[in-house]
Amino acid sequence: MPLADIQASMRAACEAAGRDTQDVELIAVSKVQPNERVAAILDQGHRVFGENKVQEAASKWPAFRERYRDISLHLIGPLQTNKARQAMELAQAIHTLDRPKLAKTIARLAQEKGHCPDLFIQVNTGEEPQKSGILPAETDAFIAETRALDLPLKGLMCIPPVDEEPSLHFALLAKIAERNGLKGLSMGMSSDFERAIALGATHIRVGSAIFGERVYT
Ligand SMILES: *Cc1c(COP(=O)(O)O)cnc(C)c1O
Repeated sequence: MPLADIQASMRAACEAAGRDTQDVELIAVSKVQPNERVAAILDQGHRVFGENKVQEAASKWPAFRERYRDISLHLIGPLQTNKARQAMELAQAIHTLDRPKLAKTIARLAQEKGHCPDLFIQVNTGEEPQKSGILPAETDAFIAETRALDLPLKGLMCIPPVDEEPSLHFALLAKIAERNGLKGLSMGMSSDFERAIALGATHIRVGSAIFGERVYT
């Protein structure tokens, strides 16, 4: 789908929800996509992208950054502690803070570097065993722990179970964020970003609707 169509859908969803379009960031999820497709979106003026692997981000983005200086890169996949340093060098935001050990490592590196990407805590709203993220019942405590480390916590992120109505999960995430005074809500993908916007998403992560299907080779 052309980028302009996605932006039009975003505007319509914002209008329907009585929200300002400026308050929703479109993250174009470029994982696995060939460089030509990414270049085409850059050429249209879009600058905010999402990758789920540090390795892939490191091989893909430095070259684009030489041409386009104002790129903002969001890491949206699970982060191993030993890749935290590289992730912090590459990304302006990390959406997948999901355990105390990672929070402590990022805090130590942030001290050392004097800067830190924006952080979102991933919440496993569906309590799925195979999925990363903090369990809903443990999220308040983890937010407090993260804040005590002086980290720039912007909000919460979730990936709803594939076979459930995502709105229930978006509403749960919004409720946890609200009672903790967090404004950022990273939720909504190609198939449900309008519903996420209706429930307060500030960051939507849209891949295949913008770039086409991912072809894994
Ligand atoms: C791949 C991915 C997306 C984008 O998914 P689409 O269905 O292609 O829009 C969003 N969020 C996360 C965490 C992803 O890994």
